[in-house]
Amino acid sequence: MRTVIIGGGVLGLTLGYELARQGTEVEIVDARAPGLGASEVNAGWVVPSEAAPVPGPGLILKSMKWMVRKDSPLYIKPSVQPDHVRFMLGMWRRCNERDFRAGFEAHLALAESTNDILDDYTRDGIAYDSYAQGLLMAFTDADTMHHHVSGLDLQSAHGLDPQVLEGDAIHQAEPALRSGLAGGIYFPHERHLDSASLTRGLQARIIELGGIITESAPIDRVERLGDAIVAVRSGERRFIGDAFVVAAGAWTGRVTDLFGVPLPIRPGKGYSIDLTPAPMQLRTAINLSDAKIAMTPYDGRMRLSGTMEFAGMDEDVNVTRVKAILRGPSGYFDNWQIPASAPQAKAGMRPMTPDGMPIIGLLPGTANAFVSSGHGMLGVTLGPGTSRALADEILGRGVPPRLLPFSPTRFARRVKPMPALTPSGVHA
Ligand SMILES: Cc1cc2nc3c(=O)[nH]c(=O)nc-3n(C[C@H](O)[C@H](O)[C@H](O)COP(=O)(O)OP(=O)(O)OC[C@H]3O[C@@H](n4cnc5c(N)ncnc54)[C@H](O)[C@@H]3O)c2cc1C
Repeated sequence: MRTVIIGGGVLGLTLGYELARQGTEVEIVDARAPGLGASEVNAGWVVPSEAAPVPGPGLILKSMKWMVRKDSPLYIKPSVQPDHVRFMLGMWRRCNERDFRAGFEAHLALAESTNDILDDYTRDGIAYDSYAQGLLMAFTDADTMHHHVSGLDLQSAHGLDPQVLEGDAIHQAEPALRSGLAGGIYFPHERHLDSASLTRGLQARIIELGGIITESAPIDRVERLGDAIVAVRSGERRFIGDAFVVAAGAWTGRVTDLFGVPLPIRPGKGYSIDLTPAPMQLRTAINLSDAKIAMTPYDGRMRLSGTMEFAGMDEDVNVTRVKAILRGPSGYFDNWQIPASAPQAKAGMRPMTPDGMPIIGLLPGTANAFVSSGHGMLGVTLGPGTSRALADEILGRGVPPRLLPFSPTRFARRVKPMPALTPSGVHA
């Protein structure tokens, strides 16, 4: 059994590892070096407690308010392109309590085993920086906090043990926060990791297990015989396999198009900035919930992350939004110093879907091509569980029930008829 995985981000590498450790042949093919973009710049949070889908009650009103601000945490570039309009309408249709809770439940089930799987990685010799310190949500606004507190039943039911910290109780959790905040919610079982060290560790272990990682090979063609995919190509380079998986992040729609299956995955750009040395010591990762900024403490540095931009397909850095991220903590800490010259920020594109849920499973109209993408803001949290379950499906053990809500069929009912491209490269 030989699987070719297109894309070497968190999703492609965790899957490559799961297949290689079960003794099957794996080749991961990336357009550039693996582990860059979103899989490098993320906040590294492993947080089922935050696994709500992006579309939710109240998002429409909030996004309209934010759209007029140049430094807002959410930006939707106005566009009349049909794909963009369809995507946004799809997202807004899901801004209701029923879809929100169903999506959250499905994510929680997928994330249930994440911590155990991460511990398995460590036991198998994959070295990466991980911090099991919990997650603190901090609020300046009492209404926002009460809104979150009133919706904690799902997290409680899944054993995440949320602790509500009213008023000054939040200082016992994090003394550096300023007094007078509305309060916080502490989730003791959450952890954070350095995603770049995880993707490096996974690559090293995949190679030890006999897997192949090929860089600088953007896949641009697919060879098929009827339903069966026989190879993918990058220019003249040909990658043969028994199974193929598209895990190409924000680029996934472009790649599944080559398989004849259009999927609505769009980029949601975000930024992160590493402050070295860390300007203050924090006990936990903190979600500055009203400002929508993630603070992640690592040994010797602190990462600030934020912003969701629905705009172009690029990793350009918008300085105005980076400055807003750097200013954000001053609403939560008395002695927050905004760095005089902005340290270099990096951008990454989150793969977003209209319903805020990933797309995982067999591509319709094919016998042996799969997709694992659209994890949006949750690729690190949901990646290990996704890949363990999808490896089972690829290896013929049936579709694990926890993957059912994420089936590609919910978007790709209509498959484009594709001319067969025979292995010699000639259209049949
Ligand atoms: C600022 C920021 C903060 C975040 N914080 C968190 C967090 O704290 N916790 C969390 O769970 N998630 C977080 N995320 C989300 C998470 O980072 C993403 O969901 C995840 O990295 C997506 O991984 P991926 O493998 O699907 O895509 P990517 O990492 O984008 O990887 C896709 C790969 O496919 C390759 N590729 C593209 N086209 C082709 C082609 N034609 N041929 C071959 N290869 C191709 C690309 O080069 C790339 O390497 C954050 C994201 C951002 C941007």
